[in-house]
Amino acid sequence: MNKNCTGLIIKSQSGFFTVHCEQERIECRLRGQLNHKQLDTDLATIGDKVIIDVFEDGTGIIKEVCERNRVLSRRLPSNSYENKPRYKNHEIQQVLIANVDQAIFVFSCQDPTPNFRMLDRFLVIAAANDIPAIICANKIDLIGAQKAVSGFELYNDIGYHVVYTSTLNKQGVQDLKNLLPGKVSVLAGPSGVGKSTLLNTINPNLGLRVNEISQSNRKGRHTTVYPQLIPIDDKGWVADTPGLRALDFFDIEPEELDAYFVEIAPLVAGCAFSNCTHTHEPSCAVVSALIKGQISESRYNSLLQMRKQIL
Ligand code: GDP
Ligand code: ZN
Repeated sequence: MNKNCTGLIIKSQSGFFTVHCEQERIECRLRGQLNHKQLDTDLATIGDKVIIDVFEDGTGIIKEVCERNRVLSRRLPSNSYENKPRYKNHEIQQVLIANVDQAIFVFSCQDPTPNFRMLDRFLVIAAANDIPAIICANKIDLIGAQKAVSGFELYNDIGYHVVYTSTLNKQGVQDLKNLLPGKVSVLAGPSGVGKSTLLNTINPNLGLRVNEISQSNRKGRHTTVYPQLIPIDDKGWVADTPGLRALDFFDIEPEELDAYFVEIAPLVAGCAFSNCTHTHEPSCAVVSALIKGQISESRYNSLLQMRKQIL
C-alpha cells in the first residue's frame, strides 16, 4: 500500500530529491504533472515542504510542493546574459533555498581578513529577501576576543547579532549552536573562513571536508557540490549550498538599495529629494549623518559601491 506523508526536501540532485519524512529519508522524483507546470521559479528545492506518496519499494513521488514563506534566490550565473541588458527578473531567478528562517554570515577575523564589502552585500540580500541575518566572526583565537569585538563592533551597534567563535578553542561555538534548533539556517561566507570546521564542531558526526588553505592559493577549494540541508542534532537544519558567494542582487533596484541598510533606511525620509542618491544633493540627511559620524564611512561606501554595481 502506498503511504502518504509530508516531508522536507533536504537534498536535490539532478531531478532526484531526498525527502526527510518521519525520521526517514526517501528518494523522490517530481510527479510528471508538476514537472510540466510552467512556473517562473524552481519547482522544488531544498527547504521545500512537500507531500509525497511512498511506494512499496521505498521510493517516493512528490505530489505537491507547499507554499513557500520566503526564499533565498540569485540571478543565474549564465554566460548567456553577459553583455546584454538586465533580463527581466523572473527569467533568471534561481531559488537556492526555500523557507529559510535565518542567514548566518561567517567571516574570519584573520586568515582571510574580513571582507566587509562582501558582508554588507550579504546583509542587503538577506534584508531584501526578508531573512533575519546573524554574523559569525570566527577564528577569534588568531587576534584575541577584544580585537575581534572591536573589528565587528559596528555591526553590533547597528543592531545585528554578532557571534564570536573559535573552532580551535571552542569559544562561542555553543552560542552559535544555540541559535539553530527548530530552524532552517543558511550558512554563507567566503572560502576558508571555517564554515565546514564550524559545522563539524557543532555536529561531529558530519565529517565535512575541511579546506586546507595552501599559502599559494588563499581562496581554498570549494568542496560543496550539491545543495543540501545538514541536520543539527535532529533539531535544526543548516544549508550548505554551492554558489552562495555568487549571490547577486536579485530584484533590487538601485533606488531601493538604501532601504536595506538598516541604519541608513530611517534617514532617507529626511533627504530633501525623494530620489536622492546621497552623493551630491543638497540637504541630504544621509551625508549629513555621515559628516556627524552617526553612520560609518565603511557602510556608506558599501552603499555607493553597490549602487554603482547594479545601475
Ligand atoms: P570553509 O572554506 O569556510 O568551509 O573553511 P574550512 O572549515 O575549510 O576552514 C579553513 C581553514 O581554517 C582550515 O585550515 C581550518 O582548520 C581553519 N580554521 C577553521 N576554524 C578556525 C578557527 O577558529 N581558528 C583557526 N585558527 N583556524 C580555523
Ligand atoms: Zn540623501
